[in-house]
Amino acid sequence: MIPEMDALLRAALQERKHQGLYRSLRDVGSPVGAEFLLDEKRVINFASNDYLGLANEDSLKEAAARAAHDFGAGSAASRLISGSLSVHRELEEMLAAFKGAEAAIAFSSGYAAAIGTVCALVGRGDVVIVDKLVHASIVDGARLSGAKLRVFPHNDLGRLEEMLQWARQRASLPDHADHGRVLVITESIFSMDGDPAPLAEIVRLKNKWGAWLMVDEAHATGIFGSGRRGLIEELHLDGQVEIQMGTLGKAVGAAGGYICGSRTLIDYLVNFARSFIFSTAPVPAAAAAASAGLRFIQSIEGKKRVEALWDRINQAKAASLARGTPIGSPIVPILIGSETEAVRQAELLLKNGIFVPAVRYPTVAKGKARLRISLSAAHSAEQVRQLVGGLQRQPLM
Ligand SMILES: *Cc1c(COP(=O)(O)O)cnc(C)c1O
Repeated sequence: MIPEMDALLRAALQERKHQGLYRSLRDVGSPVGAEFLLDEKRVINFASNDYLGLANEDSLKEAAARAAHDFGAGSAASRLISGSLSVHRELEEMLAAFKGAEAAIAFSSGYAAAIGTVCALVGRGDVVIVDKLVHASIVDGARLSGAKLRVFPHNDLGRLEEMLQWARQRASLPDHADHGRVLVITESIFSMDGDPAPLAEIVRLKNKWGAWLMVDEAHATGIFGSGRRGLIEELHLDGQVEIQMGTLGKAVGAAGGYICGSRTLIDYLVNFARSFIFSTAPVPAAAAAASAGLRFIQSIEGKKRVEALWDRINQAKAASLARGTPIGSPIVPILIGSETEAVRQAELLLKNGIFVPAVRYPTVAKGKARLRISLSAAHSAEQVRQLVGGLQRQPLM
């Protein structure tokens, strides 16, 4: 034992506490539904990303149980070694059909999908251009890839085009002749602000400058578009985005991540995405639950579930829940600014039986702390009324 280690780590934790940034785990003693038991207290839950309430849907739970029974609790190895089960192939076929893509590949998480894919597609000599507010998994993938990373201000098309132009000129220099891949990455609905990216304009720009586009639909899949495929579908951009990414752990109600695209892209990732190659396959229960979630989303019941979610979103809009910021998704941020104040506000709400997380650095920028309300089709109108009432009783800064 090196005694200095714990002393050093304790100092770092102390520093986080001073800044109002310390985090700890809370114990949940029930299913994570619209209400749950948090540290043994029953509260209304506005923290989950289970937008359609599918995490506790019978058909998903039964599919998971059946897969565990038929294929076992574990997958035993990486997909390329021995662990590629029919439940994995079925999930990928269903994903590709759902997204209208030639093929799909499933990862154990969205985080693994992002890291593995970005690092497989670009490396030293290439350029990755990302929106300032993209998820940590994309930032980490971009950094790890060794490509040159450029960050444009949130949804700023002018700056994006400047960067694309710069990347093109750079790629045409003689010492970059055999490289010069340029990859643009954005989310479709942003995870902490709930606002959309101007995808049609981004598609136009990447085509103009010869770049590839990767869109993370983590918070749009299952919710947007007439087929509930995501914002790409809603904006009629099918077939125009090279790399479609998402998670199976949010609206889909299970766990895992995916990439959809051309057959060649998927074959390439099977061979080059290290987070896929060197990691045990998702457990059969997770893959089967995800397939059942996709089946549910595409059914009439799924359509009704999304309509119920939009009823809640419209209720939040009518009550001006976000205090002036437009609401256009289940993610409703109430910007506070100060980290300690955001934590104080969240604790006040919790005393009234309402759980809304105080989201702070490093999830958002320093000084941009917020209450992040996450609405779900599982919430009742009465539960949202209680949230509105609870917030109105609080002196928000
Ligand atoms: C949650 C999330 C991920 C990661 O997905 P997991 O399956 O939870 O690992 C990636 N991107 C965005 C935008 C997310 O919100």
